[in-house]
Amino acid sequence: MVTTVAGEAACGICGGGTLEEMADYRVLRRVTSDCRPWPAGGRIGVCRACGAVQKPADAAFLAEIDDIYKTYTIYHQAAGAEQAVFEQASGLPASRSVKLLDTFRRHADLKPTGRMLDVGCGNGATIRAFGQVAPGWTKAGTEFDAKYRREVESIANTEPLYVGPVEEVPGTFDVITMIHVLEHIVDPVAVLTTLRAKLAPEGLLLIEVPHHPANAFELLIADHRTHFTADSLTRALVAAGYEIVSVAEDWIPKELSVVARAARAVLPVPAAGDASAARQRIAGSLAWLRRTADLLREHGATSPVGLFGTSIAGTWLAAEAGDAIGFFVDEDPNRAGRTYLGRPVHAPADVPAGSRVFVGLPPAVAAGITRRLARPGVTFLLPG
Ligand SMILES: [Zn+2]
Repeated sequence: MVTTVAGEAACGICGGGTLEEMADYRVLRRVTSDCRPWPAGGRIGVCRACGAVQKPADAAFLAEIDDIYKTYTIYHQAAGAEQAVFEQASGLPASRSVKLLDTFRRHADLKPTGRMLDVGCGNGATIRAFGQVAPGWTKAGTEFDAKYRREVESIANTEPLYVGPVEEVPGTFDVITMIHVLEHIVDPVAVLTTLRAKLAPEGLLLIEVPHHPANAFELLIADHRTHFTADSLTRALVAAGYEIVSVAEDWIPKELSVVARAARAVLPVPAAGDASAARQRIAGSLAWLRRTADLLREHGATSPVGLFGTSIAGTWLAAEAGDAIGFFVDEDPNRAGRTYLGRPVHAPADVPAGSRVFVGLPPAVAAGITRRLARPGVTFLLPG
C-alpha cells in the first residue's frame, strides 16, 4: 500500500523528487542503530523521481534522531567491544573494521605512509583497525562530541580528536573513511561535497553503509535517514563531484562498500533509478519482516524458543515476539554469557539440549549459520 507523504518532502539524493510513503511502515516497531527497541510511528518513502529509499527529513524525524543520539551507546550488548563478523566458511570471528580495511588496502594498493581521516569515528574502532592494516600511516578522527576522546587519542600515531564540523579539520587526507555514518546524515550530498575539499590529490574516500536489499531489518532502524543501494549511493557521490572507483556488495555481508575519488571533470549524474521497482522491493521487505515476526510467535506459542543474534534483528524480533523467546544465542564471545533484554545469552555450544532456536535473519544468512552450527539435540528454525 502506498500513499502520498503529506507536505511532499523532498528527496535527499536528487533534490528534485518528492517522496511516496510506504504506509505499512508506520505500524512497525523499530530499533535504534545502537540496538535499542524503539516504538512504531516512523515513515519511509521512495523518491518518485530517482527511486532513492529514505525517511522524510521532517520535524518529527529530526526530533526523533535528536532524542536517539542524546542517549546513544555503541555496542552496549558487549560492553563496548566491537561487533565481530564471522567468516562464512570457518565461523571464526574477525573484527569487522579489520576485515573491511584489509580488503580496501588490497584493492586500493595503499602507499606505505599517508594521512587518513575517519569521519564519525566513535570510540576509534576504524582508526585502530586502519593502524593494524597500514601501520605507517598517521590517523585522525572527527566526532560531534568529545565522549570518546581518551580512547581515540590512546591509539598510536593518531592526531588529537577533532570535535565539530569536518571543514574545520586542518589539511587534506590521502584516505577518508566514513563507516556507517552516511546513512545517518540528513543531507548526504552536502556532506559529501564538503568532504571532497578534504581529499588530497588522488585521495580516496571509502564509504560503508548497510545494504537493505540484502537485509530487510535495516529498514527498521529509526535513525537511518537514507537506505542506500549501489544506485542511490553512486548518484549521491556523482552529484557531490566524485567519480566511482569501486562498488562492492561482498566485502562485508549485508553491507555496501564504495570507493570514490574527486572527479577530474564534471560527470553526468547517472540515469534515474526505477522508483516503481524500489517501491515493490520495499513492500516485499516489509511484508517479509511481518511474516518473520508472525512465524517466531507461532513457534514460541506453546513453549519459548531461543533466538539467534542480539543485534538489530534480534532486538526487533524480541520486541515483536515477547514471551515467545526464552533465551538468545550469540556467536560473539563478547556477548555470550551475559544477559540481553532480560534473557540469558548462550554461546552456540551452550544451547541446552532439546532446544529450538529461531534464526531470524535474511534467508541466505540464516541458512549459512544453520549449516555451520547444526548439532544433535538442537533444532534450528528458519524464516521463510
Ligand atoms: Zn530523488
